[in-house]
Amino acid sequence: MGERLLVVGGNAAGMSAAAQARRLAPEMEIIAVERTRWTSYSPCGIPYVAAGAVAEIKNLVARTPDEFRAMRIDVRTEHEVSGLDLDARRAEVRNLAHGRSFYLNFDKLHLATGARPRRPEIPGMDLPHVHGVQTLADGTRLLDYYKHRRPQKVVVAGSGYVGLEMADAFAARGAEVTVVEPGPEVLSAVDPEIGAIVARAARASGITVMTGAEVVAITEDAVETSAGARRADLVLLGLGVEPNNELAASAGLELGASGAIVVDRQQRTSAAGVWAAGDCCQSVHLVSGRPVHHPLGPTANKQGRVAGRNMTGHYASFRGVLGTAVTRVCGLEIGRTGLGHREARDGGFEVEVAQIESTMSASYMPDSRPITVRLLAEPGSGLLLGAQTAGGAGSAKRVDVVAAALAGRLTVEDLLELDLGYAPPVSSVWDPLQTAARRLLAQV
Ligand SMILES: Cc1cc2nc3c(=O)[nH]c(=O)nc-3n(C[C@H](O)[C@H](O)[C@H](O)COP(=O)(O)OP(=O)(O)OC[C@H]3O[C@@H](n4cnc5c(N)ncnc54)[C@H](O)[C@@H]3O)c2cc1C
Repeated sequence: MGERLLVVGGNAAGMSAAAQARRLAPEMEIIAVERTRWTSYSPCGIPYVAAGAVAEIKNLVARTPDEFRAMRIDVRTEHEVSGLDLDARRAEVRNLAHGRSFYLNFDKLHLATGARPRRPEIPGMDLPHVHGVQTLADGTRLLDYYKHRRPQKVVVAGSGYVGLEMADAFAARGAEVTVVEPGPEVLSAVDPEIGAIVARAARASGITVMTGAEVVAITEDAVETSAGARRADLVLLGLGVEPNNELAASAGLELGASGAIVVDRQQRTSAAGVWAAGDCCQSVHLVSGRPVHHPLGPTANKQGRVAGRNMTGHYASFRGVLGTAVTRVCGLEIGRTGLGHREARDGGFEVEVAQIESTMSASYMPDSRPITVRLLAEPGSGLLLGAQTAGGAGSAKRVDVVAAALAGRLTVEDLLELDLGYAPPVSSVWDPLQTAARRLLAQV
């Protein structure tokens, strides 16, 4: 038997590392400990199960524990790592089904504990009709609650993209949905000008959007906000997530300002022989160069792969993130990449912004859909800083072109000169991104 790798957390960042390590180190003994009964699942699909668009929670599983066991990865579901002793190379593990604890030794350790929804400390937060969704176990609990109670009045606290996707899902089920957002507009990941477009789409779908309002208390049938009370038989948390960092903190690993684990480009933590990946880690922002916590699916998978290669004596590195994120809510696609306006200013950049309205295909085409593009660049250098889009089908993934441009450190002029495709049914002759670039070029 070779060295023993212990993986804590059985989803994207954990199992992509485990699978990579298994491929590269056939002799390695690999044990993966997962708190829930699921492995390698897509929490991203929960809103679509909640909406009824995807039939069952189990459809969101990419690879089951048994499939991993067939790869000689010893998966212990419904087990939790409750303590770490890095000097003794030993983890305390609790069998959640039987309530018994035991110890597992390891040579190498990979932390992939993910994140959890933020729960502000307000009265009523622990009531049974308050739900956060992060794991499939959370999703199952929520769906069971929905089946038995058929909630008709739903309040979503916060309007991160998960909160908005869940609001959209319950509105589609016919519930009366209210989103309560403390900021000036919904979806703080985009600038308020794009947030206002998202709020309009939500209102057009029958969702009540309260901005500049905070949830201050929850009772059995209502939510008290700073702008009045709303009746609620289901409360969903959409205030973003915080890293599950307790094990890392107790083991003395270095944490960043967000509480996420500090890792280098090889996903090594501050302790020898300990790697970390995914939502529990911080990354470097490729535009600002600053440490950030952007907990997103593609990052977790990529970082897991990088960790898996490095812990088996191979080499790979994770360069960083751009915070590229896309979603669709209330029939509107939204995309963002790079820095938003405030983020850029906070990062010490001067910023010029251009926002344009265009169409996704030639405007004379019968199904031509609108798109708003917001492009940000640094005056003087003309370096692109970020982009946001909102509009009809295809609008969100448009930001990927800008993500590639940001990775290549292109300027507004470079973007304008890119040879992008055109045909009337699939694009306007001036690609919407380049229409925005023309406008922005005049300003930088
Ligand atoms: C509703 C929803 C929608 C989303 N939509 C998108 C999207 O559209 N696009 C996108 O890019 N991202 C999306 N995300 C984010 C994406 O799902 C995460 O970035 C990704 O799942 C992170 O993977 P991870 O393995 O790092 O962490 P997680 O998925 O959080 O997995 C961590 C695992 O570790 C387990 N665990 C934690 N502590 C312990 C312990 N002590 N012992 C044992 N097990 C433990 C947990 O049970 C969990 O299964 C969404 C997330 C949610 C919740």
